[in-house]
Amino acid sequence: MQEDYQFDLENYMSREKFERIKNFAKDKETPCLIIDLDVIKQKYDELRTNMPFAKVYYAVKANPIDEVVSLLHKLGSHFDVATRFELDQLLRLGVSPEKMSFGNTIKKERDIAYFYSKGVTLFATDSFEDIEKIARAAPRSRVFFRILTEGLGADWPLSRKFGSYPEMTRQLILHAKDLGLEPYGISFHVGSQQRDIGQWSTALTTVAGIFNWAEDHGVTLKMINMGGGFPAHYNDPTYPITQYTKDIYEYLISNFGETLPEIIIEPGRSIAGDSGVIVTEIVNIAKKTTHDLFHWVFLDIGKFGGLIETLDEAIKYPIYFERTGPSIDIVLAGPTCDSMDILYEKYRYEMPAGTKIGERVYILSTGAYTQSYSSIYFNGFPPLKAYILPQ
Ligand SMILES: *Cc1c(COP(=O)(O)O)cnc(C)c1O
Repeated sequence: MQEDYQFDLENYMSREKFERIKNFAKDKETPCLIIDLDVIKQKYDELRTNMPFAKVYYAVKANPIDEVVSLLHKLGSHFDVATRFELDQLLRLGVSPEKMSFGNTIKKERDIAYFYSKGVTLFATDSFEDIEKIARAAPRSRVFFRILTEGLGADWPLSRKFGSYPEMTRQLILHAKDLGLEPYGISFHVGSQQRDIGQWSTALTTVAGIFNWAEDHGVTLKMINMGGGFPAHYNDPTYPITQYTKDIYEYLISNFGETLPEIIIEPGRSIAGDSGVIVTEIVNIAKKTTHDLFHWVFLDIGKFGGLIETLDEAIKYPIYFERTGPSIDIVLAGPTCDSMDILYEKYRYEMPAGTKIGERVYILSTGAYTQSYSSIYFNGFPPLKAYILPQ
């Protein structure tokens, strides 16, 4: 006899909030994503309260829904913008260009020119070629130099795609200055859903070294952009955000003394993640052999419908089944005809044994990197529909 199914919903949201979400979704087709703006506000306020010295540049890509962006704009947030499409959206929503940075190091020269023409003058960079584009297309702008981090300890590492090693960064600083740009600061991203707080210590010590070197070479850097990496609440535990902010503050003070340079953070996941619930339906429950060790449970959402961060089972979403009683081990998979559309096979989820085909299942903490990642009509499935939970 297996143990009873256990899932502490209250660990993620109040029972009252869950009932509101469930009732609101009742007449909606699944799969759908329900976004609770109260959580966005709470996460933003929490960061501002615990890091009052840092400017928040919300990473738009995490959840670009108009209502989310507008709320953050109203709360005073700045924005980390990655493309001219995001720029157009923010302008349409009334965000002023002074509150934006073009944070993507991979950009076409004509897009840099477009940002500049709209009034954006803060650009990320990590290569000579990119600096030359910026110097031509956005003369005299401020640039910050992204350093490479390895992403160790992160559930969704950003690998070596972005940034340069300090030796190269030092050359870039001088080159930018030579081309009439303003070398403004240094940025890094320790990897998304970073569960090892010490990664900020390593990065900040590297940044301090570059600040000192630059000063010795006649360039006073003014800003540190500490990127994202702050956690949302998934199955794998993290320290609370207050531990992150406290430790990071200590790393800052120990590297830069009491008078800190301008500090920027670019949270995406930690602001949007916990605000979302995906409501999905069980399409099928099957066994591959009479005495299979586990059941295959097929949901009407999978990797292509918005859960791509289950690649390599990297992000383990909390999944809530409503029944009680004995639990069974399951493999969870999506509805498409692609065989990679399996959500969790190694990491063993459990489901109440009495669960039936056609019942609804709730995937929690899915407010970040879901709808914006969902595919367009693969197998004919429409992109993930999102709704704002009415107040
Ligand atoms: C995606 C991204 C972020 C957001 O990271 P999270 O881990 O989701 O907070 C911040 N900065 C940059 C440059 C990014 O590309």
